Amino acid sequence: MPDKDSLSLAKNPLSLKDRMKIPRTHMAEADPVERSRSFQEVNLGFSILDTAAEAARCIECAKPGCVRECPVGVKIREVVELIYAGDILAAAAKIREDNALPAVTGRVCPQEHQCEGGCVLGKKGEALAIGNLERFVADYERTSGQLGLPTIAPSTGKSVAIVGSGPAGLSAAGDLVQKGHRVRVFEALHEIGGVLLYGIPEFRLPKVIVKGEVENLRKMGVEFETNVVVGKSVTIDELMHDEHYDAVFVATGAGLPVFLNIPGEHLNGVYSANEFLTRVNLMRAYQFPENDQPVYDCRDKNVIVVGGGNTAMDAVRTARRLGARTATLVYRRSAAEMPARAEEVKHAREEGIEFRLLTNPVEFLGDEKGRLTQARVVQMELSEPDASGRRRPVEIQGSANLLPVDVAIIGVGTTANPLIQSTTPDLATNKWNYIVADEKTTRTSKRGVFAGGDIVTGGARVILAMGAGRKAAASIHDYLSGDGSW
Ligand code: FAD
Ligand code: SF4
Repeated sequence: MPDKDSLSLAKNPLSLKDRMKIPRTHMAEADPVERSRSFQEVNLGFSILDTAAEAARCIECAKPGCVRECPVGVKIREVVELIYAGDILAAAAKIREDNALPAVTGRVCPQEHQCEGGCVLGKKGEALAIGNLERFVADYERTSGQLGLPTIAPSTGKSVAIVGSGPAGLSAAGDLVQKGHRVRVFEALHEIGGVLLYGIPEFRLPKVIVKGEVENLRKMGVEFETNVVVGKSVTIDELMHDEHYDAVFVATGAGLPVFLNIPGEHLNGVYSANEFLTRVNLMRAYQFPENDQPVYDCRDKNVIVVGGGNTAMDAVRTARRLGARTATLVYRRSAAEMPARAEEVKHAREEGIEFRLLTNPVEFLGDEKGRLTQARVVQMELSEPDASGRRRPVEIQGSANLLPVDVAIIGVGTTANPLIQSTTPDLATNKWNYIVADEKTTRTSKRGVFAGGDIVTGGARVILAMGAGRKAAASIHDYLSGDGSW
């Protein structure tokens, strides 16, 4: 069997059989005990040698399942060939043809359900580590200082307002500015990046990466304005009629937290995961005392986080890092139904997070000062699948018991922020208040207004939001270049 040292960055000389014998290279990770006390990145990245060894495993399928399963169709097979040939910058350029934020997606995409889920190698062994290769390529490009900014077309004289600076807004901005339109992004918060900045913690996605991507967009000519709450500071109609934007792309995400609606949820010590993560990530409360920002004191406390998705997992791992005595994830289904990425679940377990599965809080109890002290939880069992396709959890009668809890963080989901919908009368929404937009064109019911990302689909994934942003950019460009018909 070939070992890593026998591989060179050249045309792959190995037979298909030999390639399939190479074991998957696993990425080095920070020590679980050390990392559970700091916000350092958990995954340490591939070396060039790891990268060469992993790229050598690809059998260059004629009909690559990896590309088929990638939501934005990154030409993965060609990318891997370029990596193997040693042309990392060409590989980066190839990825950027379809994916504007590869250093981000290489870190946060649920690859096991996307590209790697479609990789033929996974049928008999382990899929190619596509996410890790993508991350290597993007990091190499960034640190090489050779990131070639794309050519910007001559000015069209048209201008586009983008509302929201998450992955949907940023990728639309990048594409539109290249086509010669003036692009201004309006963001409600004081920093740019959406969930990439305020939701996903530093230990999964270092902020320097997001900021680097934003700087590139700035260099390309994208204008950013923070602390503007569209719908309050200015309405969509005012942007179009008073400020003369020719088109608006609404990419405001789904940031409104959903609560459990159980007794005691008002007690001091019960918070939404969204607020908790925003305070820690955006205001850098984790750098206390250098950064004297308000954060819920988790030190030496019993913290529970309710939910089983990425948000809940990020919150419970953050609480651990803030010094929680116990950090427990409480989820009403079993591990098999957990929507969080498999890697996050593995990392959480290594970091000492306790999992209370098939458990559901039904009441929070407090002391005479209104501070949370306990949670009443019940045990659940799974019955028939519900509308989401997952088996429905049902309470086991007589199974209630009390948990000592100082801090409870609710991470059971989010929904659409209603502000723009309520201040833009002719913008159609569905019964959950998400904006209705055409799947192909991202056009809404209001002329000149497009929408995409989580504000249309509900909470989804970074890569899907980015794909929607790019689709919107193409559609807005067509609209601005045509006769204006709608
Ligand atoms: P967002 O990223 O939500 O950005 C919307 C932006 O619009 C925000 O900055 C918001 O402040 C701004 N905004 C809202 N209203 C207004 C207004 N009225 N005026 C001006 N600005 C406004 N996906 C993955 O693929 N992998 C993961 O590992 C992953 N982890 C996640 C972890 C957490 C904690 C969360 C919350 C989500 C996670 N997701 C993950 C989901 C992913 O982040 C989202 O699907 C994606 O960010 C949606 O992008 P978006 O651009 O539509 O919206
Ligand atoms: Fe390579 Fe796997 Fe894609 Fe085939 S499916 S081209 S082996 S990455």
